[in-house]
Amino acid sequence: MKKIAILGSTGSIGTQTLDIVRAQGDLQVTAMAAGHNMDLFEQQIREFLPKNVALWEEKDALELRARVADLGVKVHYGMEGLMEIAADPDSEILVTAIVGMLGLRPTVAAIQSGKNIALANKETLVTAGHLIMPMAKEYDVQILPVDSEHSAIFQALNGERANKIDKILLTASGGPFRGKTLEELANVTLEDALNHPNWSMGKKITVDSSTLVNKGLEVMEAKWLFGVELDQIEVVVQPQSVIHSMVQYEDGSIIAQLGTPDMRLPIQYALYYPKRRPLGGKRLDFSALGSITFEKPDLKTFHGLALAYEAMRAGGNVPTIFNAANEAAVALFLKKKISYLQITEIIEDCMRNCAFIGEPKLEEILDTEAQVRERVESRW
Ligand code: NDP
Repeated sequence: MKKIAILGSTGSIGTQTLDIVRAQGDLQVTAMAAGHNMDLFEQQIREFLPKNVALWEEKDALELRARVADLGVKVHYGMEGLMEIAADPDSEILVTAIVGMLGLRPTVAAIQSGKNIALANKETLVTAGHLIMPMAKEYDVQILPVDSEHSAIFQALNGERANKIDKILLTASGGPFRGKTLEELANVTLEDALNHPNWSMGKKITVDSSTLVNKGLEVMEAKWLFGVELDQIEVVVQPQSVIHSMVQYEDGSIIAQLGTPDMRLPIQYALYYPKRRPLGGKRLDFSALGSITFEKPDLKTFHGLALAYEAMRAGGNVPTIFNAANEAAVALFLKKKISYLQITEIIEDCMRNCAFIGEPKLEEILDTEAQVRERVESRW
């Protein structure tokens, strides 16, 4: 039995991770955390019988404790609770399926207690890649990508580690608004933005995919995960989402990973790496697909991607400013308090106005996040 812990078990990645646990039969969930979805969380606890669980709010944890009193499970709460789950003594690997910078401290706690990380929470590497990657090396733990593009790159690097990468071709679907003009984007509603053409995901990442901010976050994630320079990462729009990303080597050879858009594949690959396991579901049918097409991303209309490159080039805490501003802005957009185009306006405003820190430590990253959040919440 391989023992796993999950942060964010009730979300899109979390529930698909549990689908894999159900299907494979040789994974045991020893600990898991969720936010507010108590009913689903209780069902999951009853099915998977972890010893340690956590909810975000103290009052929810107290209620859950009473609900699952018959199971002898320990119920934690708050950031301390997330850290307990992340560093659960019984688990070997932590799936970070929580959304946002909230994942940062628990990921650090897991690395420092020697857990391998199946990393879905890209915000951790975006904001603290310069701390996380050396820390993983120091504690001899693996950071196994769950993001489909990064899993594709990881798979395309198999057996090639000694070879020089020329560039990474990071594919993008282009989102639901590919081909639209800025004028057309001005009228985008929340419902439009939540309607992704190829992938079914949590709300925040679905909005990020529509603005291409998600692709910007992925560029930053790829830089840290694979140790390449920013100029070696090229975003290629591939609207059918069947090529999940590619690596070009110095001899011009390009290795790609393809498949139907199904997040269970990269989750399962991370959990069993380097082994592959059977996985049901649709297979790619090339004759039915007909064609795979490619485009350049439209950086003028989707300014969020251009800002992401700018943030990464600036370095220091600017990727944190970019990310925290986006998190705060998307939260407002999800509450219908700002318009769609204001998301990138807010990111740009924060990048131009928040103080720069060169080599931020963990506390400085968290301080930057708090300052950005305060700025956004006080102005919009
Ligand atoms: P969801 O919104 O679907 O799920 C988020 C999870 O985090 C839920 O379980 C939620 O709990 C939990 N959570 C939220 N706030 C808290 C909190 N304060 N304390 C504890 N738990 C909390 O997100 P996704 O699964 O879509 O995304 C998760 C991460 O994976 C993100 O970083 C995303 O970028 C990344 N990712 C996702 C992909 C996808 O296909 N979905 C693809 C690639 C990367 P609850 O619902 O109970 O409140």
